[in-house]
Amino acid sequence: MAGRIREDDIAEVREKARIDDVVSSYVTLRKAGGGSLKGLCPFHDEKSPSFNVNPSRGYFHCFGCQEGGDVINFLMKIDGLTFAETVERLADKYGVQLRREDGDAPERPRGPARGRLIEANKVAQDFYAEQLETVEAVTAREFLTGRGFDQDVATTFGIGFAPRDGEALVRHLRGRGFSDEDAIAAGLVAMGRSAYDRFRGRLLWPIRDASGDTIGFGARRIFDDDKIEAKYLNTSETVLYKKSHVLYGIDLARRDMARSSQAVVVEGYTDVMACHLSGVPTAVATCGTAFGDDHARVLRRFLHDHEEFRGEVIFTFDGDAAGQKAALKAFGGDQNFVSQTYVAIEPDGLDPCDLRIQKGDAAVRELVAKRQPLYRFVLANVVTKYDLDRADARIDAMREAAGLVSSIRDKSKVDAFAREIAGMIGVDVDDARREVRRAAARAERPDERRAAPAAAAAAAAQPSRPRVPSLRDPRFSTERETLKIVIQHPGAVGRVIEGVGPHDFSHPTYRGVWEAVAAAGGPAAGAKDNGWSTRVRSSAADPAVSSAISELGVEPVLTPAEPTPTYVAMHVYRLQELTTMRRIAELKSRLQRTNPVEHAAPYNKMFGELVALEQHRRNLRDQQVKSQ
Ligand code: ZN
Repeated sequence: MAGRIREDDIAEVREKARIDDVVSSYVTLRKAGGGSLKGLCPFHDEKSPSFNVNPSRGYFHCFGCQEGGDVINFLMKIDGLTFAETVERLADKYGVQLRREDGDAPERPRGPARGRLIEANKVAQDFYAEQLETVEAVTAREFLTGRGFDQDVATTFGIGFAPRDGEALVRHLRGRGFSDEDAIAAGLVAMGRSAYDRFRGRLLWPIRDASGDTIGFGARRIFDDDKIEAKYLNTSETVLYKKSHVLYGIDLARRDMARSSQAVVVEGYTDVMACHLSGVPTAVATCGTAFGDDHARVLRRFLHDHEEFRGEVIFTFDGDAAGQKAALKAFGGDQNFVSQTYVAIEPDGLDPCDLRIQKGDAAVRELVAKRQPLYRFVLANVVTKYDLDRADARIDAMREAAGLVSSIRDKSKVDAFAREIAGMIGVDVDDARREVRRAAARAERPDERRAAPAAAAAAAAQPSRPRVPSLRDPRFSTERETLKIVIQHPGAVGRVIEGVGPHDFSHPTYRGVWEAVAAAGGPAAGAKDNGWSTRVRSSAADPAVSSAISELGVEPVLTPAEPTPTYVAMHVYRLQELTTMRRIAELKSRLQRTNPVEHAAPYNKMFGELVALEQHRRNLRDQQVKSQ
């Protein structure tokens, strides 16, 4: 690639790539009033949604971590792409032909663009799917049939077969115009003495991201003489494939997850398939790694239910030791997540795939329906180690169980757990509660001692920067509302805004926003031009100002409908009145410091100005009243 992408092509990409559409592949969004959408922020960990998207203006902004921007900024940030890569990827997805200026500033690409890697994975998936029908793939087909999956199912899930040849995919990709560099970067090919296929003689599941693009593969051993012993191989880490985030089946499950606020986490590819075919469409699985905090965050974004996280995450654990260990590990993770976590345990230790084969679809649905809270499962595992007929053992059991609960910060839950412990062990509820409190105090104390001096040191190390007042300070509410109207509804502003200038904004950041608005041609320029808000943001050099612009672009205007001329006028007049009041206060202070005898001329001049300003102020007041 030579030369920069043309500006008008970038503008077309911005226009066609709807921000709500793009963000929805990562975050479940819900209506938030004023045409805005809301969800759990993908850039910081949060319990209630402060991540806002304004589709008509093309902005996103998080009130929690202050991330904000347009659709390109969003993708750059969330997938760690360069500007050019992001534009290419969106152009690819939304059918925009990118032209490049044959300028003298060729960008040096760092490896193949993401779009190229997606394409390579897609070509590979089609190739593998075709191979599944060959004579060589009979073992692979038998494996599927043996687990109750016919050809239609294989097609639905895109299952394929990697030939044993070892270079079949290398040749196929070259024939389709992919360089070995592309194929290696896509995780499909490796380099020894020459290029060779990463997967040889294996049954393959394509792993897709939430938007349905194939980003890697899971590969199962099916031949006894396979030199690689591992039962499963996965794509290694690539630009596309991050195993700590990847969930197999998320593309199929995400809509049902959002609808039902439920996610089922199973252990393997065949279990995901069995669940989906049995009527549990919310099943996903991690790929070759344990379920971790990153996976939890991904799920929570898709599950988020209105103002708080109320979703259920159900793990199907084996009842065996490994399963119990996994459950305990999950218990030690994010406590807010834990309280929404359930386990579904099949008494005979069957995984969903085997359960479906032996007992049918209904049995799989029933397994999920009979879930129990994770904490109850974990407590039960602790308690069963003790002989509860003995009083001293009951005390020991209570101590250990209370120790588990002490890491939970939510006080309302602690009480529920204490009652649970009391019931399970057969001790008095008050005793259990006291034990939990004692355990919590033990757990907290060392933390406090460590945290306090560290926090003080950090505070002392802070450079004494001049403090900028909060944008939300009520002093600035008229400035804020006026700018929200201007940015979100430039067409509704009308001529009344012509009297407004930078001096009407007393907060330096708001003044910067107004200057960016003016630099982009003012609200009149934004009335008909969809790219206007982007130009406003890009004309701001100060990051605090660009952040404020996206924030102002998503926070609903304080009137339910499109702002009326009256609503606009009230704010503009009030804004000017406040400016006038600031001037009056300045003048009065100067007058006080001026001796009317020694400096009669300047004093009288200022006095005259003061009278004029008072008159101006009354006019503005009258206009506000009239416009109501
Ligand atoms: Zn955030």
